[in-house]
Amino acid sequence: MIKALKTIDKNTSLSEVDTPTIEDGQMITQPLFVGVCGTDLQIIRRQRPDPATILGHEGIARILESKSSKKGMQPGENVVFNPVDPTDQNQILGHNIPGLLQERYLVTEHAIDQDLVVPFPKAIDPMLGALVEPLGTVVYGHSLVSKAVNQSSIAIVGAGAIGIMNALYAKAQGYKQVLLINASRDHLDWCIQRGIIEEENTFIDSDNLADEILAATQGAGVDAVYMCTSRPNALAALSQALHYIKANGCIDLVGGIKDGDKIEDLPSVEDLNAVRRANFCGIPSDGYIETTTTAEGKQINLTGHRGTSLKHFEGVIENLRSHGDTFSKVISHIVSLEACAGLFNELAEGQVKEFNGSPYIKAVVDLSLTGHSIRNV
Ligand SMILES: [Zn+2]
Repeated sequence: MIKALKTIDKNTSLSEVDTPTIEDGQMITQPLFVGVCGTDLQIIRRQRPDPATILGHEGIARILESKSSKKGMQPGENVVFNPVDPTDQNQILGHNIPGLLQERYLVTEHAIDQDLVVPFPKAIDPMLGALVEPLGTVVYGHSLVSKAVNQSSIAIVGAGAIGIMNALYAKAQGYKQVLLINASRDHLDWCIQRGIIEEENTFIDSDNLADEILAATQGAGVDAVYMCTSRPNALAALSQALHYIKANGCIDLVGGIKDGDKIEDLPSVEDLNAVRRANFCGIPSDGYIETTTTAEGKQINLTGHRGTSLKHFEGVIENLRSHGDTFSKVISHIVSLEACAGLFNELAEGQVKEFNGSPYIKAVVDLSLTGHSIRNV
């Protein structure tokens, strides 16, 4: 038997499950680090119907046993996981099929064939492997937006983990001006304190926001806006963004949008989520970007995306080689599997602003930790 974290009806506990057995073409892996993200939170609260009871879709594992002959898939190697299978959307790691929050994870031959497990270099801190999947979505977004505009000045709306990762990525690429907007001050202050962003580049989402961003950009506005805010303020924040983006700028709809959403300020866009869904796991390879006109007559570009591809993972790994320390700043807590049960049970109850006495942004589960262990980082 092995230990696994089981989440059933909003209740999470450490349980025992059968040790997996290996067949031809498969691998047995040992999860090392697993990230906790906003979609986990929605599953824990049963706000989405995903049936998996063992969560964990952002992670890195060591190969213990392999019956695959593929390069990089040999015992002792580390691999990271791409949770979404573009050939079968009903097989999402930690959503529809058991995830990584367990001591052993069986990788199927199909997952290996489809590049859903990607070699992770030994030279990079394995803890950063837990960030590869969310950073993959960041790389995806920035590569799409780069097809439409030259990104010198950008705004990121929402200072949750994914917004912060967008900011860290933008800074690592050397964008000239990165502005971070959030509904409340707490996360912005946390980011300033860690050197993620400078105070003058942080903004509170208010009625004056557009004027403030225009002032910060000498009246020009920003080249791109990354919408990383969650509902319910996502659509209002998008309307506001239309006022401070440059003509022909590009907006990336990262999250907070649902099917059928539309806003009056973008009269020709019938379904914002259809724009977002048009890019899936790197398909189409040219990227889908919709050019549209605001109600006030400004032409802008709109894009969005779901999932990631091998190419995005490779882009992240290259970034982690040179900027690993930068990206680790988004992690607020490192917890053991047992302590993660407590975190999930708190998340099930409602918003967790603080965990173990310090602001909660993103937790990573370190499966080598035993007992009830929580480290604020
Ligand atoms: Zn996630």
